[in-house]
Amino acid sequence: MKIDACFDSHVHWPATGDFSQRLRLENLKRPQDVKDLKFNPAHLRGDWLLGFGWDDNLWSEKPHRKLLDELFPTQPVVLSRCDAHASWVNTEALKRAGLWDGTKDVQGGRIERDADGRPTGILIDEAAELVRDQIPKATEFELRRQLLKGVQIFNEAGYTHIRDMTCDETQWQEAVKLDQSGVLTLAVEEYFWIRTIDQLDKMISLVIRAKRAETPNLRAMGLKVFYDGALGSEGAYLSKCYHGKDHRGLLLWKREDLHAVLRRAWEEKIDVAVHVIGDEAADQLIVTAGELKEQGVTGPLHLEHCELLRADTIKKMKGLEVYCHMQPAHWLSDRKWLKDKIGDLNESAFQWRRLQEAEVPFDFGSDAPIERASIGRLLQALRESADAGIPRLLGQATSYMSHSDLSWAPNSFTILEEEAPAQVVFRGEHLL
Ligand SMILES: [Zn+2]
Repeated sequence: MKIDACFDSHVHWPATGDFSQRLRLENLKRPQDVKDLKFNPAHLRGDWLLGFGWDDNLWSEKPHRKLLDELFPTQPVVLSRCDAHASWVNTEALKRAGLWDGTKDVQGGRIERDADGRPTGILIDEAAELVRDQIPKATEFELRRQLLKGVQIFNEAGYTHIRDMTCDETQWQEAVKLDQSGVLTLAVEEYFWIRTIDQLDKMISLVIRAKRAETPNLRAMGLKVFYDGALGSEGAYLSKCYHGKDHRGLLLWKREDLHAVLRRAWEEKIDVAVHVIGDEAADQLIVTAGELKEQGVTGPLHLEHCELLRADTIKKMKGLEVYCHMQPAHWLSDRKWLKDKIGDLNESAFQWRRLQEAEVPFDFGSDAPIERASIGRLLQALRESADAGIPRLLGQATSYMSHSDLSWAPNSFTILEEEAPAQVVFRGEHLL
């Protein structure tokens, strides 16, 4: 089977390269097993130990900073959860981020605390970001290596086109250099991550400048906003409380600020991509876009993940320029606990079929490195989710796996044999 312009529509490019060499925690059966991990200097940035991939939904005990403190009393440790929306950190990391005394509340984030008021070391969304801000940035050399490793991973997985969700100015410049030196064997759409409303002017002008500096394989598309968190760490914003809990998740932005970003970006003809996983986050976004349309302001709106979409939200998309970007493989990871966490909201999960019926355009991706970039895994997820009761996609899945502009990087295609890439061709050059 042949896929033209084989497209992974939601990835984190340098992180995919970086995480492939980092300390991996997928196989931890319980928090105590960190003691048996083999640490090496490649896991460090500066003096920070970084790891990725634990999943507390598979554990009966809760992770705690004390376990990390025993191993690393003076060195900061940040272990990211498999959804990258929570971190397990030690006392030194909390101290460096100014979170140790436990008094700080974080807008759009959650700091889990012990009975004595001290942080347990589990930080969700914006609280985790405060610690991440303290980690030294990758050097230019490291960033270049991450990008090149990412290119290799995507090409080997069969992709010739990706849509990268968390670009910044340094990365853009490095990517331009890669393309100019002829080593970028991927066509990349870039979205620039705006973290707070005070960055709006700066980020808009960055996108405009990047658009003027586009190279053959790089397109500067627009802004990316994280509006809510993720389901696994209970940050996705729901219309009902999480099962057995007294909260509905987290909103990382005020709605009026989201409104301001959409308005400004669309006035400047810039796309906006918004991370919305919970049903209520998605609904608020669509309602906000609808209000702007009434005021005569509209533009391309990309919903990232949209794991939970209610039927009434999909109806409201009519007349808006909405594109959904979904990652079937998240279903494989989330199926173990999804129903337990969200109860009957499960009926709104992974609604590609309803989007087809409503004629809302969408495409598929991996969310690498959160899920492995893998066509086989994506197709497996579609099959197994349908067998488990998620309404089955109509037609060929591969029609949602090509870039919509087939004239961009022409003569790029992937040949699949038994759902694995047998040939990958980019601009006529055989890569695999
Ligand atoms: Zn993502």
